[in-house]
Amino acid sequence: MTLPHIAIDGPVASGKSTVALMVARRLNLLYIDTGAMYRVVALAALRDGVDLDDGEALAELPQRHQIDLKPAADARGYAVCLDGVDVTAQLFRGAVTAAVSTIAAQPQVRRVLVERQREIARHHAVVMAGRDIGTVVLPNAPFKVFLTASVAERVRRRLEEMRAAGSTIDAQTLREEVERRDHTDTTRAESPLVPAQGALVLDSSALSAEEVVDRIVSWVASSTAAGA
Ligand code: C5P
Repeated sequence: MTLPHIAIDGPVASGKSTVALMVARRLNLLYIDTGAMYRVVALAALRDGVDLDDGEALAELPQRHQIDLKPAADARGYAVCLDGVDVTAQLFRGAVTAAVSTIAAQPQVRRVLVERQREIARHHAVVMAGRDIGTVVLPNAPFKVFLTASVAERVRRRLEEMRAAGSTIDAQTLREEVERRDHTDTTRAESPLVPAQGALVLDSSALSAEEVVDRIVSWVASSTAAGA
């Protein structure tokens, strides 16, 4: 049976998490933010003092620790528990954000997390957001979206979000951080960030989240009707 999965990939702050959650709520699908899975492994690595380049040791962390993702009714749409404790807020702080792309470039870590992501998708129709969902995790997903936006717009959005959360980060530091993560994600040997074949590529620089969601939902509806 082919489940009507929707894969949404894109670079840092392209709006994929917001859009993926809204699409999932509109279509009554399960929303999975795979970035959170890499982030929780990064948090566990920092806590355990694991070397961020030691792929073998990092790949053991999801087995050594209990990691749970649960849907939530809040603006983020999910909560992540590490060994039974809700760590969601910590996943988006500076130390984890600075470490996450380095650990996500380790093939051993990707293997373990990709397998978990596929396991979830075997049991649920999902809207899954990440960097390699349409290319590697769910290459047979019937709907693939590659969401992007200009660097300036992505930095503007992320700055607004971080300031609202009380951060005092300046625009230049944030821009460097976004460009550094873009570079690591697009140039890594294992599953680099690229649009999947057949993906609907959407540049959201001049679109609101609602407009992006409308386009995706209309595309899914018209393709489903055409195939019915
Ligand atoms: O989406 P988010 O920015 O939270 O993801 C954090 C990091 O996790 C990304 O910068 C990327 O390095 C990594 N990631 C990945 N593959 C995914 C999801 C996230 O490599 N499917």
